[in-house]
Amino acid sequence: MRNIFLLLLLILTLPLTAVESQLLTGTPIGSSPSVDYSNNSASTTVNQPSAAFDGDLNTFYASYGRSYTWVGLDLGTPHVITRVGWSPRNDGVGPERVVLGMIEGANRSDFLDAVPLYLIDQKGVIGEMHYADIIVSKGFRYVRYVGPHDKRCNIAELEFYGHAGEGDDSKFYLPSGIPVVIMSTVNAEEPYDKEHNIPSYVRIIDTDNSYVIDTATTRLRGNASLNFAKKPYRIKFESKQRPLDAPAKAKKWTLISNYGDKTLMRNLLAFHISEVIGMPYTPYGRSVDVILNGEYKGCYQLCDQIEVNKNRVNIDEMETSDISGEALTGGYLWEIDAYADQEVSWFNSNHNIPVTIKSPDEEDITPEQSKYVADFFNKMEETVYATYFDNKDYGWRSILDAETFLKHFLIGELSGNTDTYWSVYQYKKRGEDKAYTGPVWDFDIAFDNDYRTYPLNNKSEFVCFNGGSTAGSMGQFVRRVVLQDAQTIPELREIWAVARCNGIDSASLCMWIDSIAEEIDRSQTFTFMRWDILNRQEHMNPVARGSFAAEVAYLKDYISKRVEWMDKRLGYVHTDVQSPVTSSPLPIAIWDIMGRMVYTGSEMPMLENGLYVVQENGQTTIKLINN
Ligand code: CA
Repeated sequence: MRNIFLLLLLILTLPLTAVESQLLTGTPIGSSPSVDYSNNSASTTVNQPSAAFDGDLNTFYASYGRSYTWVGLDLGTPHVITRVGWSPRNDGVGPERVVLGMIEGANRSDFLDAVPLYLIDQKGVIGEMHYADIIVSKGFRYVRYVGPHDKRCNIAELEFYGHAGEGDDSKFYLPSGIPVVIMSTVNAEEPYDKEHNIPSYVRIIDTDNSYVIDTATTRLRGNASLNFAKKPYRIKFESKQRPLDAPAKAKKWTLISNYGDKTLMRNLLAFHISEVIGMPYTPYGRSVDVILNGEYKGCYQLCDQIEVNKNRVNIDEMETSDISGEALTGGYLWEIDAYADQEVSWFNSNHNIPVTIKSPDEEDITPEQSKYVADFFNKMEETVYATYFDNKDYGWRSILDAETFLKHFLIGELSGNTDTYWSVYQYKKRGEDKAYTGPVWDFDIAFDNDYRTYPLNNKSEFVCFNGGSTAGSMGQFVRRVVLQDAQTIPELREIWAVARCNGIDSASLCMWIDSIAEEIDRSQTFTFMRWDILNRQEHMNPVARGSFAAEVAYLKDYISKRVEWMDKRLGYVHTDVQSPVTSSPLPIAIWDIMGRMVYTGSEMPMLENGLYVVQENGQTTIKLINN
């Protein structure tokens, strides 16, 4: 019996030995030229790719170029890689020149389909091999090591272990554990402006190993953020894709760089607040790692492009033939935009608000449509401007949707976004004479990340009237809606009261912030290795706090104090719905949103319009009375 068992064990072991990993050999390949350090000149004979595969830790490959340069092997046929080894160049700069070096596999000689196998996260030791196990299940004919940014690719020795085989797509490597966006451009050309679309392959891999891949174009995007070292990108797939858990299937996606936001989550937090407050559409956003041509670029947010789409701004898409009757009335998407004059399709309103028309886009819009949007905007603006200092509503609510405008305002104020009225999206549906405000966008300098208004919670007035930037005369527009109409503050208070009971509270928001901080913890570590800026004030930073943890702690401190600030400014006293401040022996008890008991008794009374906390037979609910 024992012998049979041993025999069985032997038989079971045999097939495994057949696919056992071995040190793989192939043809050395790499960026050319290399560098001859003896005279610092380009060379095609010295420090060649073969020097990284000669088994000698004293010889090395060194590229002449300083970024996106690499060295690897053509294995001839696909191989599943199970283990890699590397050793740094044998001199002073060698050990640090492997930090954030990327090991990749591909099946195209141009590496356009490359996926990461391993990201090196620490310095090497001269004269020693370092090893890592590889989990990627796919087989690759081409494997390579890409040197980190702005350093010559220097490596003394590379080893790839594995076995022949095509493998499968069941397991990918995510450098920090969050989803990864892999952009590979033709000829490794780096996207360099907003006008030139660089032919690319883009693959986006989720944490469950599912992925999308398509040919695409990539370019830069953004305004202020365009000038920072960590670039924001725009991806346009050739066909519609639905990456990760995004609701929309679409060609266009944005990568927000968060360079000046060292918590790397301000935009995501604002989107979370937008969802809780109940905007009809909140842009999709997810933390991702970005790799461009084998170089680790850091933690970004993959976000929706703000555009007309069933799962984005859901309005009718205009055709060029929609030039009269009801068809001409929408949908339109525009942006009140301080940078409008840099665009092709824009106008300045009668009261000097610059507006960029986003949809229809500048290539497709007809003169009739352009005129219609400008005329409508001017009519809306005139209605708002009719609201004078006499505290009356002169009808702006019929042409400007109050709910979305005021929710958008509250998100801007809770986040303390000085950019809220620098850029505002609005849209108009077909067959309805009304503008809606949203979606919210761009919170890089929100949450007290702007030295011009820091510390925000010390101010007594809303930031949009006290230090916020406005596009043209947009400040006047908002002032009329919010401050010169006596109905507005009570309306804001009601929206705020509902939000306060739905997750806009210090504990819930801090828990949300902690959960993101945990999710991106490895990603932020790599990000600040790549961008060593934690001790520097960047963009509008009021303070450099020296660590990711300190930046996150300040964000939590700000939001906790801001919720209290908003309560106070809006004249709202928060009552815990589950256990109102007092209870009543009678079946019905009602409190107003100031926390004052307005009724106890046994019959539901007639109530003035407003929001109430109602306790009926022990059940507590929030009721909006709107007779
Ligand atoms: Ca060597």
